[in-house]
Amino acid sequence: MELISLKNVGFSYAYAEKPALRGITLDIEPGKLYGVIGPNGSGKSTLCSVIRGTIPHFHPGELSGDVLIYGRDTVDWDPAELSNRIGYVFQNPFTQISGIKDTVFEEIALGLENLGVEREELIDRVRAVIDQVGIDKLVDKDPNQLSGGQRQLVAFASIIAMDADFIVIDEPTSQLDPEASEAVFGIIESLKAGGKTIVLVEHKIDLLAEYADELIVMKRGEVLAHGPARDVLVSEELAVAEIPRPEVT
Ligand code: ADP
Ligand code: MG
Repeated sequence: MELISLKNVGFSYAYAEKPALRGITLDIEPGKLYGVIGPNGSGKSTLCSVIRGTIPHFHPGELSGDVLIYGRDTVDWDPAELSNRIGYVFQNPFTQISGIKDTVFEEIALGLENLGVEREELIDRVRAVIDQVGIDKLVDKDPNQLSGGQRQLVAFASIIAMDADFIVIDEPTSQLDPEASEAVFGIIESLKAGGKTIVLVEHKIDLLAEYADELIVMKRGEVLAHGPARDVLVSEELAVAEIPRPEVT
């Protein structure tokens, strides 16, 4: 069964002139990596909020159509339960860092504390993830003193530590250099190999071409194209959304 099913979904933020999403019909199936691409303002982050159920719970506005999350209508979910079950890496890492912890180690541990994980297991899991993401040098630093790129890696690590089956990742490499971006994508690939379902918003089409199973192309709140990445990469719609074809590798 699909994890998420959207049928003719629209959403308008309160007081906005135009809808942020229009007529979106889309299924997310387990075990796949979905790449989402489109110009700024095309609705990618709003789509993420619908998929993980923060719309309608936490965003004032008007939702239309049907949103099923694990087969249950989104309005019937307890949003706190959803935030434990669906991992989410924010587009803006400044939003994600809690501001209430003194060290990067404790910041990464916070999500696991909220899940009720015992301290001993928590320490093991946080250490493993710090190793995996390669941020050993940051463990004792104050999370509030980090650069944008460092925060982005810490935010990413926090979510991996929670080990959700389904992870939504909104532009994880926007503040990273090419080397760190490749490293993040390598980790995302290994998460997928471990059976996770991933929705990944990313501007770098070359990276999506390499790693995504399916591509979703957005423009002005609509899904212009959705299908296997190899088909979408040669589609007209990619050009319509003004996304360059990736260099053939
Ligand atoms: P993207 O992630 O593709 O850049 P967004 O989903 O952030 O696009 O935005 C889609 C549209 O919704 C844009 O027109 C944006 O200005 C608007 N929007 C986004 N967030 C809000 C909000 N909290 N309140 C009102 N309008 C918003
Ligand atoms: Mg966005």
